Amino acid sequence: MPELPEVETIRRALAPAVEGRVVVRMEVLDPRWCEPAPPQEVAAAVEGRRIARISRRGKYLDWELENEVHLVMHLRMTGNILLVRPEDEQPPYVRVILALGSGERALFTDPRRFGTGIVLLGDAARDTYFSERLGVEPLSPDFTAEGLKAMARGRKQPVKAFLLSQERIAGVGNIYADEALFRARIHPQRPVGTLTRPQLEALREAVIESLNAGIDARGASIDDFRHPDGARGSFQDRFLIHLREGEPCVRCGRTVKKMRAAGRGTYVCESCQPRPRARRS
Ligand SMILES: [Zn+2]
Repeated sequence: MPELPEVETIRRALAPAVEGRVVVRMEVLDPRWCEPAPPQEVAAAVEGRRIARISRRGKYLDWELENEVHLVMHLRMTGNILLVRPEDEQPPYVRVILALGSGERALFTDPRRFGTGIVLLGDAARDTYFSERLGVEPLSPDFTAEGLKAMARGRKQPVKAFLLSQERIAGVGNIYADEALFRARIHPQRPVGTLTRPQLEALREAVIESLNAGIDARGASIDDFRHPDGARGSFQDRFLIHLREGEPCVRCGRTVKKMRAAGRGTYVCESCQPRPRARRS
């Protein structure tokens, strides 16, 4: 599933190609994409408007059109946005077509069809939509050790599940949670409220470093993720711990284990990331 670095990679690739262009036509081929809004209504709100900016919040991509019309997309499991020229062959699994004034088309492709889109009218509506769903943006100055400490205080939730909660920290998913916990030397099942101040500071830095490493590598293509030009990201070749089951830990040489945490396949070096001690009742 695309996480913050993958969506940011798409944003950076799309921005120079689409900003300033007009969406001359929008076709929603799969009504499930925008339900409960009817496809014609979504298209009518978008067509004829210039794209002022493409921005990102968490794992959401926001096509900011003129007059504060926002077309907000979420790629979910297998969504991609491909940019094709008129002479290019149409790829499979196209669910939405945005035909641009440049002659290019931005295609929302999605084999599993969990991706979504919504039109929000006005910046205030967009802000409310995000603030109801998303916590702090981890690559912004608002992501502080103080804030992390306040969110973690008294909570028994395992730290991996905590990192995956979009309403706390926006944009971190399974890959980057594993990478950050390994960098910070914290076991995924450690109750987040038991982390010390230095551990929370290390975790904050590790989240930022992992996300930035992912962006530098232009995302991880372990599944369907592709850049708008169809190319693959390379972060999967630089994982420190994720998907490295049975391999020696890059830090200590002990064997990396796979376990289940927060319902997800989770990779851990239990020498570098010691298991939480069982509590006596
Ligand atoms: Zn290790």
